[in-house]
This record gives sequence, C-alpha cells and structure tokens, in this order.
Amino acid sequence: MERQKLEHYKKLLESRRLHLRESVARTEEDGRAAQTEDSAQDIADRASSSYQKEFLFARSNNDRQFLRMVEHALSNIAEGIYGECESCGKEINERRLEAVPWARHCIACQEKLERGELEQPAMEN
Ligand SMILES: [Zn+2]
Repeated sequence: MERQKLEHYKKLLESRRLHLRESVARTEEDGRAAQTEDSAQDIADRASSSYQKEFLFARSNNDRQFLRMVEHALSNIAEGIYGECESCGKEINERRLEAVPWARHCIACQEKLERGELEQPAMEN
C-alpha cells in the first residue's frame, strides 16, 4: 500500500483509538460511581442501578473489544502488513477500509466468516 494511504488510515485509526480509550475510562468511572451509590439505596433503586451497571459493563466490553481491533490494525501498519486479508492474503478493498479501517478480512472472507464457513483467526497482538 502507498505510504500516503497508510498514513491516512493510521490517522483514522489513531483518532478512533483515542475516543475509545476515553470512552472505556469514562465507563469505568461511571461503574465505580454506581457501585458507591449502592449502599445508600432502597430495593427499587438498587434494581435499577444493577441494571445500569450491567449496561455499563456491556458497553465497556464492546468498547474494549473494538479498541483491541483498532490496536491490532495499528500494529499491522507498523509491521507493514496492513490492508491484507488475514485469511486469504489478498488486499482488502479500499472502499471497505475507508468504511471499516480496522477490517481484518476482505469482503469474500468476511461473508464466509459470517456464514460460519471460516474460522475467525486469533489476534496475535
Ligand atoms: Zn480474504
């Protein structure tokens, strides 16, 4: 991939990483706040706050997973293998990368993955 394009995707990924890190940190703070509120609540309040905690937990898990994918893509840029499909090794379509710069697979392999015809390879880094 051309250096200029790599820089472009790198910037997209870095700004995404920044937002995700902020979001993960904020969710963790909200979670802590919800925990300390627990002791001084009646039962009805406690039910709604436990629901809120679950919601926060799910959100922070999603963010964290997403953050890992973004970091994975950034390390691929550093290694010079960014934009290659991790299954078939072909170049990932640029329009796909533009929309999903953390994509690990070309469209064909992604569709196979979604149909369960391909195994999701583990992230090494
Ligand atoms: Zn592929």
